[in-house]
Amino acid sequence: MARRMDEYLKPLLEEERFDFYRAICDFGEREIAPNLLRWERGHELVPTSSISAMGELGLFGLTVEEEFGGQGGSHIDLVLMGLALGYYSQSVAITPGAATSLGTKPLQLFGTPDQKKAHLADLAAGRRMFVFGLSEPGRGSDAANPQVTASRTADGWRIKGEKCWSTNARWASHVVVHALTDPAGRPGHRSTCFIVPMDATGVHYGEMEGKQVWLQSSTGSIAFDDVLVPDTAVLGEVNEGFKVMVTTLNGGRLFIAALSMASLAFGLDKCRDYAQERIQFDEKPIGRFQRVQDVLLDMDIAVEQGLTWLMHLLRRYDAEALARESAAKVKIELSRRSSDLLTQAMEICGGVACLDEFGLIRHHRDMFVCRVGEGSNFALKSLATRPLLSRIGDLLQ
Ligand SMILES: Cc1cc2nc3c(=O)[nH]c(=O)nc-3n(C[C@H](O)[C@H](O)[C@H](O)COP(=O)(O)OP(=O)(O)OC[C@H]3O[C@@H](n4cnc5c(N)ncnc54)[C@H](O)[C@@H]3O)c2cc1C
Repeated sequence: MARRMDEYLKPLLEEERFDFYRAICDFGEREIAPNLLRWERGHELVPTSSISAMGELGLFGLTVEEEFGGQGGSHIDLVLMGLALGYYSQSVAITPGAATSLGTKPLQLFGTPDQKKAHLADLAAGRRMFVFGLSEPGRGSDAANPQVTASRTADGWRIKGEKCWSTNARWASHVVVHALTDPAGRPGHRSTCFIVPMDATGVHYGEMEGKQVWLQSSTGSIAFDDVLVPDTAVLGEVNEGFKVMVTTLNGGRLFIAALSMASLAFGLDKCRDYAQERIQFDEKPIGRFQRVQDVLLDMDIAVEQGLTWLMHLLRRYDAEALARESAAKVKIELSRRSSDLLTQAMEICGGVACLDEFGLIRHHRDMFVCRVGEGSNFALKSLATRPLLSRIGDLLQ
């Protein structure tokens, strides 16, 4: 199937970058696409053999500096990987995507030289994986005030509580835990991040059961039962853990926006084909109906606009000049637009859209994660609206 997305991406990218993107598309076509249906019907997570294959391709080290064995690429390269693999499956793409944008990134941004030396080479090679431990059973959008606590001991910290929704938990070597360390502190300055090995005494992981989205992605609960860690486990500054988390999320939101684009681009290609092949009334294809054309055109415009906007913001992100509000806005808009349009794409294809082998239902379903993940769209709107209401800023949450 010819990809409309590629026609829009090509003029936005340097030739070498476009070739790199195409190479990952070829990997997806060869290694992922033929297996997806079997994995889905068998309720299988991405097999470790595929994770190793992604590791060999360098997908876990795309944004890691070359001195640590990474590819030395930028966030654009990571997002191109998300577009290339997300076209097949968001849940496959999020595996290296979350490992990099949520796992490795906070270490790159806030790690000490010793912490980087200890982990980055293994993370880049896919031998280790960090997970992002922000969400908890009782703390989702209200993430600044974690219920997981870390209290001082004679020579370190004691961590108690539970994290959930941790992407990649099954394969994780470490979790970056966001824990309350100063309940009486100023808002946003009450918590600290810790790098905790998954095999530390008192850490218990369980895969969350019953999840009906991102089927091939591991999503775990991680409990901390009086887990003792040394001072060297602190990532960033003490009581500045929320800054570590929200700074990391900026890049993660751009990745979620890319997954939204990848799913929409798949839907567009699927509908283009179907509208020209499916014959109804007078032995003619359904693409001749104006309403079907409307949806196709809306999808096409959304793919072109979305990719252009995203690439523009990515260049600012890589130049360290992207405001948090901008990352929130593009995530909100591209996820809601793509999921609305994918509902209409399902209508264009009719009954066949309900079959797993047709592929569209996978993207339609997974789009919901893009709406709630890395900050639910509703909750993120208050952040995105801030610059519009600066005169009443102290009244905003
Ligand atoms: C598949 C999957 C993978 C995930 N991976 C990770 C991960 O790796 N690490 C991690 O830490 N978390 C992860 N998450 C968690 C995700 O970030 C949270 O689901 C998200 O932040 C929303 O939190 P919540 O689900 O607890 O919703 P809640 O905070 O309980 O909110 C419920 C709803 O209330 C409304 N709402 C809440 N607050 C506001 C507000 N201020 N203004 C307006 N409306 C509001 C919104 O409609 C919102 O959707 C994952 C989630 C999923 C589904």
